[in-house]
Amino acid sequence: MEHPIGPNHFQEAARELAAAFAPRAAEWDRARTYCWVNVRELADAGLMGMSIPKEFGGKGASYHDVVLVIEEIAKACTLSARIVVEANMGGISAVMAYGTEAQKQSSAALVLEGDKPAICITEPEAGSAATEMKTTARRVAGGYRLNGTKHWITGGGVSKLHVVFARVLNEAGEVEGIGAFILVRDPDRGLEPEGFRILGREHTLGLCGMPEAELAFEDVFVEDAMVLTPPSGFHRGFADLMDAYNSQRVGAGTVAMGVAAGALDHAKRYLRERHQFGRPIAEFQGLQWMLADMDAKVHASRLMLREAALSRGPNGSPFPNMMMAARAKAFASEVAIKVVSDALQIFGARGYSDKEPIERMYRDVRMFTIGGGTAQILKTQVAGSLLGIKTPQSRDGYTRLAARAESGGTSVAGPESEP
Ligand SMILES: Cc1cc2nc3c(=O)[nH]c(=O)nc-3n(C[C@H](O)[C@H](O)[C@H](O)COP(=O)(O)OP(=O)(O)OC[C@H]3O[C@@H](n4cnc5c(N)ncnc54)[C@H](O)[C@@H]3O)c2cc1C
Repeated sequence: MEHPIGPNHFQEAARELAAAFAPRAAEWDRARTYCWVNVRELADAGLMGMSIPKEFGGKGASYHDVVLVIEEIAKACTLSARIVVEANMGGISAVMAYGTEAQKQSSAALVLEGDKPAICITEPEAGSAATEMKTTARRVAGGYRLNGTKHWITGGGVSKLHVVFARVLNEAGEVEGIGAFILVRDPDRGLEPEGFRILGREHTLGLCGMPEAELAFEDVFVEDAMVLTPPSGFHRGFADLMDAYNSQRVGAGTVAMGVAAGALDHAKRYLRERHQFGRPIAEFQGLQWMLADMDAKVHASRLMLREAALSRGPNGSPFPNMMMAARAKAFASEVAIKVVSDALQIFGARGYSDKEPIERMYRDVRMFTIGGGTAQILKTQVAGSLLGIKTPQSRDGYTRLAARAESGGTSVAGPESEP
């Protein structure tokens, strides 16, 4: 399925950038450094914040436009593609949908000038069971005080805009639900929220240029003006905020698919180049069938992801449909791992070395069944939708969390959860 309304100039711009990014990708990986040069070029091309409405300085691009861009960039540089996801989907989508005018203005300005927002949900004891988060935001005069620790926060240390999920407490310390709090950290402009610390960085298998950080909040003050209030209030805050996150899932699935599409291209090249038994290895039927299977997996993923990007949730939601997003990301992330692994196989020993980008792509793509909702959790959501039943992962999290707390922890079975 090509773009339904003809040639897409965002996609063309992304193809041009991807050609420049491809030779640099190995360097970010080896040096484990953030790709600031690419970010500058993405911002100059208008792709950072392209989904931001025109009235706030963006391009007003659709999520469908964004996934076309992500695919092109991911073929060349997974790291840069993840940045495009987060500069257009997820945290920034939540701000642009639920924020005040001032929040939208200031957040959009940061992203448009090249910031990749950080979304801070996961905690050491609350991964898939995200609603079990312990970070609290306690009501005080003029705002809230944040306390807690988040880990695996993509961009921690390089991101300026942070959307921090926390359990909201009233003055009496009673839980009101889950909310999101906007924090801006910009040391170059002397903005270091007091009590906000970056504790360390993970050493990862792939996506090595992207910092995955542990963050601590010690009595960090967030003024009322920076509270991102979910439309249905804190008691359903988690559900609203995770709806915005559906877009991020479509984006992350598209990165995985784009990496697989890039690996497929490399495999096609090598099948023609490499000769054994006196002929190109492309002539061996075993490898031809492998290639055809790889192509089918990439194509099926692409269709599902584009369909999800075009979809919307119920009741006028501006975000992709939850079930379609979950189905597409779970499928695309799993098959992408297989496609890149098969591409590596086609390269033989060469694929196992850093002479070819396949080795890096293989490490990079492994992440996508984990981050942003594991494949298992997403499939549980899909099954829940198919069967019309509530699963432990359904998003009415807080309602049941409250019920459990009120009953002394005995009345509600299973973890409250969402990746
Ligand atoms: C590279 C990377 C970047 C990330 N970036 C961010 C970020 O920017 N912000 C952020 O907030 N988080 C981020 N995360 C965290 C990510 O969202 C979590 O890792 C994910 O939600 C899973 O949590 P966990 O790792 O604690 O696994 P766990 O929840 O401990 O799960 C362990 C295993 O059990 C399975 N499992 C758990 N519960 C169930 C169940 N009910 N049914 C079936 N299987 C189950 C899981 O699928 C998994 O296989 C990132 C993670 C990675 C790897």
